[in-house]
Parts: sequence; C-alpha cells; structure tokens
Amino acid sequence: MKRGTLLIHNGHETDYASGCSTGALGIPIYQTSTFDQKLAYKGAAKELEFDYARSGNPTRKALEETIAVLEGGVKGYAFSSGIAAVSSVLGILAAGDHVVAGEDIYGGSWRILNTFYKRWGLELTVVDTSNPDHIKKALKKNTKALFLETPSNPLLKITDLKTCLAIAQDAGLISIVDNTFMTPYLQRPIELGADIVVHSATKFLGGHSDVISGLAVSRTLELGQRIYAVQNGFGAVPGPWDCTLVMRGIKTLKVRMDAEEQTARNLALWLKSHPQVTDVFYPGLEDHPGRTINEAQASGAGAVLSFRTRTTEQALHFLGTVKLAAAAVSLGGVETIASYPVRMSHASIPPAERQRLGITDTLIRISTGLEDTEDLIADFEKALEG
Ligand SMILES: *Cc1c(COP(=O)(O)O)cnc(C)c1O
Repeated sequence: MKRGTLLIHNGHETDYASGCSTGALGIPIYQTSTFDQKLAYKGAAKELEFDYARSGNPTRKALEETIAVLEGGVKGYAFSSGIAAVSSVLGILAAGDHVVAGEDIYGGSWRILNTFYKRWGLELTVVDTSNPDHIKKALKKNTKALFLETPSNPLLKITDLKTCLAIAQDAGLISIVDNTFMTPYLQRPIELGADIVVHSATKFLGGHSDVISGLAVSRTLELGQRIYAVQNGFGAVPGPWDCTLVMRGIKTLKVRMDAEEQTARNLALWLKSHPQVTDVFYPGLEDHPGRTINEAQASGAGAVLSFRTRTTEQALHFLGTVKLAAAAVSLGGVETIASYPVRMSHASIPPAERQRLGITDTLIRISTGLEDTEDLIADFEKALEG
C-alpha cells in the first residue's frame, strides 16, 4: 500500500479496532479516568485490557497503533508533548550511560539531556552528525544511545540515516531518531535501521496548531515494553481529545505536506534570488550539500526552510511586519510560521555555542502553510524592504 492510502487505511478507519463495534468512522473519545473491573471479579478471571486511563485508553490506543503502522514499527506510544516523548524514551537509559546526539537537535531535547538527565547521571556528547565519522569518534565504552534528527533544526542539515544507524547497530547502541520534520509520510527511519522514532505530533501530524502532543515508536516489542514502563510510570500521557485531534490531522497529512512542500520549494528559490538574503537552507535546493542523501532516504524535502538576512535589523523588521506568517514558535501548521531561533527554539543554548553552530541573529526559520505562494512572496517582499 502506498503512503497516502496508509494514512487513511491503517486498521483504524472505523471504531471496530478500538473495541467498539458501531462502524463509526470517528474513533470514540473515551473521556474517562478509570474503568469498571467487575468482570474480572465475577469468576471469569478475565484479564481486562483497560483499568486506569494513565495505563491505557482506547482512544489513545488507536493513535498509538496508527503511528506504529505508519512508522513500520511494532509498538507505538503517545505522550502529552513531543518533549515528553523524547524525555520518556531517554528514560529507558540508566545513570552512567553515555549518549551521542546531533549538535543541532531540537533545543528542548538538548536542554533535557544537558540539564535534567545530566543531573541523573547521563553523559552527553554532541557532534555534527552530517559527518558520520564524528559519531564513530565520539563512541565510548559506556555509549548506549545515538540520538539523531534529520533535517536538523534550524539549519536543515542532512544526516545520512543508513550509515549512522549502521554505526549504532555495530556498536550495540539504541538508536533514536526524531522524525518530526519529515513525518512517516516522507521518511521512515525504522526501515533504515532505527530502533526508536520520536515525534512532536504538535507539528505536521497534528497539523493545525491546536494541540501539544508527542509519539514514540519502537522497532521491537522488548524496547516497546521498556518505553511503556516509562510512559505508565512517569505518566506524561495525553488526554483522549488530544489523541483525536492528532488522528484527525494524520488523515490529511498527505495533502497538507504535498502543498506545503511545494510552497517551501518556491519560497526557497525566490529567497535565494533576493538581494537582502545571504543564505537559504532548504534540502530541496539543487546546491544543498545534503540533497542527494535526503533524496535517497526521504521522499521529499519537507516544508521547513531557513534563511539569513544581511543585518539583524532586517530580521527583526521582517518578524515585526510580515503579515501572512505568524511570528511564532512551532511549525507544521496550516498557517505559515516565521520563527526566530535565537530568541525562541534555541534561546536556551548559550550565545557562544549558538554562534559556533551558525544560529545567528540574522537567521529566520519558516514553516510554510497552505496560503498561496504568490501572496506569501508579495508579503515577504514587503517585510524584507526597509
Ligand atoms: C517541537 C519539537 C519537539 C518538541 O515537541 P513539543 O510538542 O513542543 O514538546 C521535539 N523535536 C522537534 C524536532 C520539534 O520540532
């Protein structure tokens, strides 16, 4: 089955699979905290699937099974946010374990590794994973996990998943890939060798800027059980209504992603020719250094790009005057979003480190929405003047 069909037909096209049997095309929202267990006491000694909604909820289960199918994994888990998914997955590691991660992973993932988990004894080395040799050099005796994100954020660097995941496999590491920017519609890391995929479903999967949610998928049942122990024990679970919003978003992912990617490509090309723009970062551009690797591992370049203006003043003026884009944190919604990494997603990274990574005061990240490209270009043109 092709990817678009799978977004609609993945076992949860009706409520049959979630335990109901009405044939409803919408999965019921089980707004409940607990489940009556009398049946288990009636002599039937029946093992009941649901007992308490932190441990499991039929609406959440439908979303969890859906994302597992889409990512080609065995088990799926839903969380209250993307960072809850990242934190909970990292929670399967132990004190003294060493993690190698990409140096421009999502700012919040870097922060949880560098603060909270550091306090709990996890060691971290960040490297530029667009060069796989850097990963090999960073490996230590106690290295237990590799954390990757591609394209990276906010500079859209591409990491060769197959090569890097093979390094992880050879070294016996648990490999974790944050697939938020690409979604399983464009890229499926488990098929390329990843052990665990994580998502901020807040972004493209939810797709409408109306829900905070996270997901994780494991390649094996054993890893799934370890993630489940943290999901249930730590308890960062989403409510059923949020699960419904994400499932609703997934159904339209194909049309949104296709349209938003086309706009991103056109906008990137236009920005490249603009006199006030010095750099454009988009993996779909001919001269992007990671383009061929991205084409080999993903079926598209996604809908996020970034660019640098000549001066800081121009960047601030753009963010203050652009009309058809929200000047906001986040991405992947139906509306175009312009964000300013130095003050938003990457504000928690020390200025010197940001400078080293190329996250300058002139850098603006764009997530394209469903507006018409011509309107966006006309609006961006005005915001880049002056
Ligand atoms: C937004 C984001 C996260 C964090 O997700 P939240 O839903 O905001 O907690 C993690 N990784 C990436 C790549 C993101 O863009």
